[in-house]
Amino acid sequence: MKTWYPTAKQHPLIGHSAPGTLAQRKLIVLHITAGSTAAGAISTFEQSVSPHRVSAHCVVEQDGTVTQLLPFEDTAWHASQVNSQSVGIEHVAIPGKLMASDAQYAASAALVAWLCSTLGIPCDRAHVKGHNEASPQDHHALCCEGALSADKVVGMAVAVTAAGPSV
Ligand SMILES: [Zn+2]
Repeated sequence: MKTWYPTAKQHPLIGHSAPGTLAQRKLIVLHITAGSTAAGAISTFEQSVSPHRVSAHCVVEQDGTVTQLLPFEDTAWHASQVNSQSVGIEHVAIPGKLMASDAQYAASAALVAWLCSTLGIPCDRAHVKGHNEASPQDHHALCCEGALSADKVVGMAVAVTAAGPSV
């Protein structure tokens, strides 16, 4: 049995991950798509080719829909310095144009809270990072501060955790 977020829409992505284990996942990395739709982000992953194949575990849309592409055991290719240790979550948002919505923050916080509790990851800013914080060599300086606040996601995730399990 592989591990999927219970409320996610599943859209399995084949050939864009490496085998791994849940025990490897010590960090959660937040990204923004810099595009206006989840479908566009998923298509970018599907069309990426070796040696530049990319992927993420989940995409959170502006309306709060979570689509999961890979089970959390698999290593996704989203932040080069920490791929093998992390879970990657994309958010549909564009710096200066499309800010993360309230529904998206709520969905992301619920997902992060679930991941922290399921994977035994501390729910704090040392373990939930933006792409540029987690893997500065990728030079994605706008991923994700500017359109999505990692501080806000973690603060809301801590509140979800304090309120008790919901899924
Ligand atoms: Zn990124």
